[in-house]
Parts: sequence; structure tokens; C-alpha cells
Amino acid sequence: MGRSGAGEGMTENTKNIAIIGAGFTGLSAAYDLLRAGQRVTIFEADERAGGLAQGFKEPYWDWSVEKFYHHWFASDRHILALIEELGWRDQVVFLRPYTVMYYQGKFYPFDSILQAALFPGLGWGLDKVRFGLVGLYLRLTSNWRALEQTTVDAWMRHWAGDRVYELMWQPLMVGKFGENYAAQVNMAWMWARIKARTTRLGTFKGGFQAFADRFAQRLVEMGATLRFATTVESITSAENRKLQIKTATSLQEYDQVLVTLSPNALSRLNNQLPRSYLRGLLQLKSMGAVVLILALKHQLSTKGYYWYNIPKSAGFPFLALVEHTNYLSPNYFGGDHIVYCGDYLENDHEYFQLSQDELMERFIPALQRINPNFRRDWIKNVWLFRTAYAQPVPLINHSQNIPEIQTPIPGLFFASMSQVYPWDRGTNFAVEIGRRAAQLMMKRPV
Ligand SMILES: Cc1cc2nc3c(=O)[nH]c(=O)nc-3n(C[C@H](O)[C@H](O)[C@H](O)COP(=O)(O)OP(=O)(O)OC[C@H]3O[C@@H](n4cnc5c(N)ncnc54)[C@H](O)[C@@H]3O)c2cc1C
Repeated sequence: MGRSGAGEGMTENTKNIAIIGAGFTGLSAAYDLLRAGQRVTIFEADERAGGLAQGFKEPYWDWSVEKFYHHWFASDRHILALIEELGWRDQVVFLRPYTVMYYQGKFYPFDSILQAALFPGLGWGLDKVRFGLVGLYLRLTSNWRALEQTTVDAWMRHWAGDRVYELMWQPLMVGKFGENYAAQVNMAWMWARIKARTTRLGTFKGGFQAFADRFAQRLVEMGATLRFATTVESITSAENRKLQIKTATSLQEYDQVLVTLSPNALSRLNNQLPRSYLRGLLQLKSMGAVVLILALKHQLSTKGYYWYNIPKSAGFPFLALVEHTNYLSPNYFGGDHIVYCGDYLENDHEYFQLSQDELMERFIPALQRINPNFRRDWIKNVWLFRTAYAQPVPLINHSQNIPEIQTPIPGLFFASMSQVYPWDRGTNFAVEIGRRAAQLMMKRPV
């Protein structure tokens, strides 16, 4: 992509700014910086925009499929406001698919407090009341700072009781954070999750990739330079207070740089960061994700369920099974039925090493547990996606460990999924932190 319009409206106060990463954070920051008349170059290692929310498309599909399952909640006000500003609100669709939870060999709807209360595992006595009261309290309170001082494990055991916690919440915690961290994650994480979720789920017509492509194109029209397939190798402070960005083919200077990668990646790109900031970055914990996507000839969940929460203790080889085409019509995908099998894992887990075929061998028996009629010859196509940085892990008093957006290096800024706390990561909060970073950068003199 080239640049159009750069130079127009630029003054001596115009800063020359580089953004590393064309995910939702980088694109959103670029949008506000361009609106304020700054000169913006985005470096993106991949060939297209979208980052973790990227999609891919078979030639006969009308819509793209996200590499990692994605949807918006009706409460995702930052992304929805941005889309409104861009004039594309009519491209957002909200639907009401069904989330289910496993109990004694069966799956039950489980995506509202009411449905969860009807869940048979809770019986009809005190447990159900405690579950309901805890859910209500978490919806109503805003005092996440008190909640971050304790773990989900301790708080839930105290207020909801061991049985309710072990049945309803612990499987989610173990699935999402593994045995190592499940009991260490702080209660503000659970609060944010319950607070922000809605039963109606949204997407962009054509998929998240359609939005990212359109947004990137708008930025180019506003004057941005987008350098795709360009990996930044290092960022170094030069003597003239500028920052030098090195790629395989260029060395360029900028007044300010915004990095939107993982804390680990920032620590590798800049070796001048003071030890205390660096230590803070490297102490942040996160999980990776492994997702196998299948295109099937037939519907897997004939009940039309979209999202299956699966406890690891029930012997399934993954955490979530998501039948995308029970949310969006298979007609958008040439009649294919799209199923994700996904898991959050620490980076040394064997799923990061196994081949696609080896993972298939592990996963296929589980599909037969979802639908006994499922046969291997239903599979038309398979894709495997893995990422080392998928889900930050917030431990007790995590708010004290969030790195500042303005790093100690003049002109160098950092905005990532690890800083949107107390909220859980998501494109909505990527937009919010991207725009917050842009405001901060504009306040700083050149
Ligand atoms: C399994 C999974 C499910 C999710 N589900 C949802 C969901 O349902 N809804 C939702 O809203 N969000 C969801 N998310 C979260 C969402 O994808 C992220 O919060 C969001 O995309 C983060 O955007 P970002 O711009 O901060 O980072 P990223 O998307 O990671 O963008 C960083 C960009 O930097 C590029 N890059 C990396 N290194 C370099 C380099 N050296 N030089 C140049 N470029 C580089 C990368 O290619 C990438 O494009 C999910 C994430 C995962 C992993």
C-alpha cells in the first residue's frame, strides 16, 4: 500500500511517528494521530492488517473466517463507537447464538445468569441461590480494586462455596490458565469477564478481516504509510533524541514510536530500557493459544449450539469447541460448516510442537463425543493456527504491575493486551488503549 495525502496540513509541530503492528491497537492509534495532523508510518510483519483478529478466506467463501474465533459483545462500546465514527455501523451485525456447558455427559445452555441458574448441576437448593447472588453482585459492583486483592479461587470458594466454584468456575479457570495459574488469577479478572459479557454477539459483515482491510485503507486515504511484510528488528535511541527503526532493508528515524506487540517482543526490540521497566515487562505472564479449524460437509451440533465450554476433567483434548456456522450462516462460507477446536496453553505445551496431523488424531475422537454420527470423511479442509501471546494472566494486585504506556525512553510508547487490565483482552480494549496511547503521544513535545 502506498501513501496518499501525506504532507497536506503538516506544520512544524507535525511529528514523524512510527507504529509497530497493524493490529486493532496500532490501527486505532494511527487513526487519531492522523486526524490530529501527524505523519504516521505503520510497520507490519504480516502481509495484511488485523493482527490476532485476522481472518482467511477460501476462494469460494464470501466472508473470511478469523484464525482465532472472534466476536464482539453488545457492551464493546469502544470498537462500536469507532465503527460509528468511520460511518460503517450498518456493517455490524448482532446475533444471539448459544453457549453451552458440560455436565455429566451432556451440554446445557449457559450464557445468561438465568440459564446458568437452570443448569442441573447446581440442584435447586442453596447452591443455586449462592450462584445467583454472586453473579448479581459481580454485575452490580464496580469495586474491582478490592477484588484484585484476592484470587478467583479463594473469593469464589468463600462466597459461592466449594461445590459451586468447582462445578461452575474452576473448569473455566483451569481451561483458560492451566493447572499452574488457575488458582492464582485474581478476582478482578472474573469480575471484568462477567461485567462485560452479553448474550448477543456481533461481527462485521464479511468478517473481522473485512473491517481491518477497510480500516487500513481509510488510514492510507488519510495519509498513512503502511509497510506490510516489514518486520522491525530493533528500535534504538539516536543522539539527536530521535528513535531509529531498523528493518531488513531500512534504517529510519522517527520523533515517536508506538510498539503494539507483546511485552517480550518490546524487550527484544529495545535493549536500552532501564532494568526496572524491563523487569516489569518480563514478569508479566501470558498464555498462548492453539486453534485447529475444520471445514465440514455437515453441521456438527445439530442442536445449533455455537460455543461449547468443555471441562478438561471430562477428558476432552481442548477447552472450547466453537461451531462458527451455528452463529453465522454456512451460506457465507460456500455451505461449509466451520468448527474451531481451541485451547489456551503455556508455550512449552506439546501442542505447540505437534504437527497438524498429530493434533487431528488427538482431536477427532472428541468430535465424535459431540456428535456420534461425525465421521472423518465429513472433513473437507483443516487449518492450524498458533500464537505464543494470546491471553495475559493477571495475578494478585496486578494493577501495580502494568507497564506505563510512556516507557522511560523518550519518545517510545507501548500499548498491548497486557495493559488493558482490569478488562480482559479483546479488540474493543485494543481500540481503547490505541486511542489512549495516541492522546498521550500528542501531549508530548517533539
Ligand atoms: C484465541 C483468541 C480469541 C480471541 N477472541 C476474541 C474475541 O472473541 N473478541 C475480541 O474482540 N477479541 C478477541 N481476542 C483478542 C484480540 O484478538 C486481541 O485483543 C487484539 O486483536 C489485540 O490487538 P493488538 O493490536 O493489541 O495486537 P495484535 O493483534 O497482536 O497486533 C500486533 C501486530 O504486530 C505485528 N508484529 C509483530 N511483531 C512485529 C515486528 N517485529 N515488526 C512489525 N510488526 C510486528 C503482528 O503481525 C500483529 O499484526 C482473541 C484473541 C485470541 C488469541
